[in-house]
Amino acid sequence: MTTTADIPELGSYVAGEWRHGARQAPDTNPARPSEVVAHYALADRELATQAIAAASAAAAAWRATPAPARGDVLRKAAALLDARAEAIGRDLTREEGKTLGEGIRETQLSANILRYYAAQTLDPDGDTYPSHKANVHLYTRREPLGVVTIITPWNFPICIAAWKIAPAIAFGNTVVWKPAELVPLTAAHLLHALVDAGLPQGVVNLVLGKGSEVGDVITTHPDVVAISFTGSNAVGRALQAKASATGKRVQLELGGKNPAIVLADADLDLAADQVARGAFLAAGQKCTATSRVIVERSVLAGLMDRLTAHANAWKLGDPLAPDTIVGPVVSEQQLTTVLGYLDRATSEGASVAAGGGRGTGELAEGYFVKPTVLSGVKATDTVFREEIFGPVAAVVAVGSFDEAIAMANDTHYGLSASIFTRDLGRAMRFADQIHAGVVKVNAETAGIEYHVPFGGTKESSSGSREQGKAAREFFTEWKTVYINFP
Ligand code: ADP
Repeated sequence: MTTTADIPELGSYVAGEWRHGARQAPDTNPARPSEVVAHYALADRELATQAIAAASAAAAAWRATPAPARGDVLRKAAALLDARAEAIGRDLTREEGKTLGEGIRETQLSANILRYYAAQTLDPDGDTYPSHKANVHLYTRREPLGVVTIITPWNFPICIAAWKIAPAIAFGNTVVWKPAELVPLTAAHLLHALVDAGLPQGVVNLVLGKGSEVGDVITTHPDVVAISFTGSNAVGRALQAKASATGKRVQLELGGKNPAIVLADADLDLAADQVARGAFLAAGQKCTATSRVIVERSVLAGLMDRLTAHANAWKLGDPLAPDTIVGPVVSEQQLTTVLGYLDRATSEGASVAAGGGRGTGELAEGYFVKPTVLSGVKATDTVFREEIFGPVAAVVAVGSFDEAIAMANDTHYGLSASIFTRDLGRAMRFADQIHAGVVKVNAETAGIEYHVPFGGTKESSSGSREQGKAAREFFTEWKTVYINFP
């Protein structure tokens, strides 16, 4: 039993101090919304401004800290995340709703991300060039930008934060971090690991606030030089317009409407398993989730049989229970949105082949949506065009490979895409012709590795890339040095 005394009281972390303000908000469990996981103090604009001042004050010393010493802090924080992974993963699950296994693995993945950027602090940070003139040493170096704002969503509450914050500080910047309001406890855990690892005060400042209240301050303040944002298209594009007008560097990772193409020669067991994973795991709340399933007509029935069997068999339930495969969606608002899309689908003529509504019985209190397969969908239907962010796969049949590619590319988004086929030539043509930042062959659209660039084309991204060696490009700028030694 959790007593009131066990419920953590969270606050922002600014200039090396936890700030517990008067305005408290509850952090609740989407599987049992009456259960309060934590209380957190909402930051106001004044505290957000103090966070920027703290990051500015810490910038010179952190920039002057040798890069390998910055890496040492990340390496220690990674060890702490590993040691605490069970506890952090459990709290992540309790406030976000993904399964316990997913919560723990996401924490361990974050530790690996921290170690990866720690290692990059030993990499070359520039080049030397021959000069056209005699006795000139000509070299370049990548230098930190200064104060950067990092805004993260709730769906990967620790690893998206890790893959933005780790390179930002590894390469010498200081940070103001605003996580999504729904996941303050996971955010506090990440910050504790960094602080316990010896991160100097002011280098990372955590602002637990509403985007609508503190968002403007942390994205338009003159001392903020760059912003890395992951979230919705509406918020991301509005923020980009304002921030770019004041000359800030902006990186956006936004939505997706990711297609999986299943060709007639595909291994249908593999395709159905991977499509189900991409569509239903984490309750479909991944920007890389599989949302559109484009199938060659001759294997439509075979794929539908297998896909609906997974949707019906995969256990929807308490994400802390070991046999649960699909947990709840994150919030009442998300539940309403997803159910709204299902209503819209049937009113536009689609049929529910599996799932199709809320969990019932003991799941009725939580925000559970059954893994859902929609058939009879048209390429013009709303569920085939808009991002749903729920456990929903919409299936459309096509007559040819070329039709499948054209349909897959007929979207404003371009994050990830996959194809299932045994034909190497078609797989390669798909990789060439698909408009997406991440391409998979015989694998789900979701699931990415941290040491390669990640990001999308078209409306899915601002065009820059996160992770891998690409992260340094965003979080640093070139300096070119001519040394004349006559
Ligand atoms: P999602 O659909 O993932 O909740 P949002 O774009 O609403 O997408 O949220 C992503 C992140 O952006 C969250 O941390 C949220 O608090 C933040 N956010 C929301 N509104 C604003 C805003 N006006 N300015 C800055 N950040 C915002």
